[in-house]
Amino acid sequence: MDIVSIVDKNLLRLQEIEKEKHKEDERDAHYPSSASIKRKVIPKKGEDSVYGACLLAEWRKWRKIPETNPPTVNTLQKFAWGTIFHNWITEILKKECLAGGYLRSLENEVSFALPVAGLTYPVKGRIDNILNKNVILEIKSSFGKFFFARSGLIAVGPRKGSLMQTLCYLKAREDLEYAILLYIARDVGFKMQYNVYRKGNSIIVTHWEKGQEIRNEYPEITWDAMIERWAELEDYLKNDKEPPRDFQFKTKYPCCYCPFYSMCWTGKQTKSEVVIGQGGE
Ligand code: SF4
Repeated sequence: MDIVSIVDKNLLRLQEIEKEKHKEDERDAHYPSSASIKRKVIPKKGEDSVYGACLLAEWRKWRKIPETNPPTVNTLQKFAWGTIFHNWITEILKKECLAGGYLRSLENEVSFALPVAGLTYPVKGRIDNILNKNVILEIKSSFGKFFFARSGLIAVGPRKGSLMQTLCYLKAREDLEYAILLYIARDVGFKMQYNVYRKGNSIIVTHWEKGQEIRNEYPEITWDAMIERWAELEDYLKNDKEPPRDFQFKTKYPCCYCPFYSMCWTGKQTKSEVVIGQGGE
């Protein structure tokens, strides 16, 4: 009996069932994960001119262009691993609520739809958890190297894509005080917390390091800049015109994980050709 094949076959089958369920769904909103910003400063070598999602990939998703590079079984397994961790942390926090501890309430998977002036379509999404009816909690899990690599979380902080996603939540739920980005390493048990606060149309991010609170501002991440890009996408959709590629060849994020990779790039890529760019994770 070949259990590996059975698992892989069913991972693909479940993905197909899920796709089939939403085959007829018309896209009617922008998502926090589709946010992006055009960089104002000229990028250095190895950097991209955009933070976050690629407009061309988004355009293809809106147009329902068939994927040339759908997720492989290995990728599906990685996604599942992320979901398991996510649920595990949520269950632990629920137990704290039941025990009458610091957490009094936890609302899970809270949907929102935010109409935005200047956009035809609203921004829709789902917040992982809302704690004590006051704080957004977004859970991210990854592996040790994501934390400790030279360009990892500890060295450079949360990815811009995650911060834009969090800014969407803070905009959608202005009644809530701030957001927590909780990062968990699946392999080495490491955890990091970042608090994200509104600052005008942008954000301030704080975390603790060696007993000191570190504050970082992100003036390049603004709500207006995100709306500008979604408006640009809507223009391309209205005019039925493909936007240009936002990312360069040899950019690991997001091209190497893009379901339209072969439509943009041909040829084999060697490991040494891949560099980590600034795109959304
Ligand atoms: S492969 Fe890269 S440039 Fe092409 S659509 Fe995907 S993310 Fe954009």
